[in-house]
Amino acid sequence: MKERLIELKQEAVAQLSKVADATHLNDLRVKYLGKKGPLTEILRGMGSLSAEERPLIGQVANEVRGAIESLIEEKQEHFQRQETEQRLAAEKVDVTLPGRPLKQGGIHPLNQVIQDIEDIFIGMGYRIAEGPEVETDYYNFESLNLPKNHPARDMQDSFYLTEDLLMRTQTSPVQVRTMEAMKGEVPVKVICPGRVYRRDDDDATHSFQFHQIEGIVIGPRIRMSDLKGTLLQFTREMFGSDTQIRLRPSFFPFTEPSVEVDVTCVKCSGKGCRVCKNSGWLEILGSGMMHPRVLEMSGYDPEKYSGFAFGMGVERIAMLKYGVDDIRHFYNNDLRFLGQFATI
Ligand SMILES: [Zn+2]
Repeated sequence: MKERLIELKQEAVAQLSKVADATHLNDLRVKYLGKKGPLTEILRGMGSLSAEERPLIGQVANEVRGAIESLIEEKQEHFQRQETEQRLAAEKVDVTLPGRPLKQGGIHPLNQVIQDIEDIFIGMGYRIAEGPEVETDYYNFESLNLPKNHPARDMQDSFYLTEDLLMRTQTSPVQVRTMEAMKGEVPVKVICPGRVYRRDDDDATHSFQFHQIEGIVIGPRIRMSDLKGTLLQFTREMFGSDTQIRLRPSFFPFTEPSVEVDVTCVKCSGKGCRVCKNSGWLEILGSGMMHPRVLEMSGYDPEKYSGFAFGMGVERIAMLKYGVDDIRHFYNNDLRFLGQFATI
């Protein structure tokens, strides 16, 4: 029996030394050490041995098992190492390959202009206020001195949702809501940026949806000269330090007196060109001193306080600033257009 064990060991060692891969190695492990293998068989047959022989044979059998096991382990480690090396070689990274560029987005030009305008007014001590896009008739019109049947309502064709609710046609209702929330406190200094809606047919200069920024200031002794100084400061920061402004009399129901504000043409600096139709001026916003009736309706005593208001179209400012000739470019989401404004 001892001879058989030694033979078995020699046979196993010979086979194991020739093994070429992990699968084959596993087959050999099952063959020699498995439950149906010769070694198990010999150990099972030990019962028939004499008491003297049993420990001797047992010892040899254990040695043989140990030798085969350690050889298998050694081979296993060898194959694992080989596999790791092969994998590392296959997965080698070429650090000299050029990288794939990341797609970088940019800020939409309209948002950029809104941010620029906000920054300028925040710098002058204004606060930013926002309000709902679906408004009541009261906030959108009546509280701004536009009672029902007022002819000036025709200036703003509206999308009505119900008899009393509409998509706001201007950001002015936010001013009214702000004044109400302030409950007669002064000073009020806010700008209200946001989307507005009018029943316009879309063309190069009109859109049914666009953006406005309006602002109001209320306090004691607020005068027209304050309005002019504020707008001059704003336009100079927006369009350049040598920009001039011109005020022309106009009409808005919520201001009295009302003025339209022109800036020197951004293209020709006032010399006259195609953009300004040779006038040297471009209209950019409407403004005026707050109508006493509007102040009163929102809880401010017009005998004690006065104020001014102004409003501008963001698209118009963006078109002038960037020389864009069609308002629809802003909404088409064409990356060839938008990519020109990406700052990075
Ligand atoms: Zn011009």
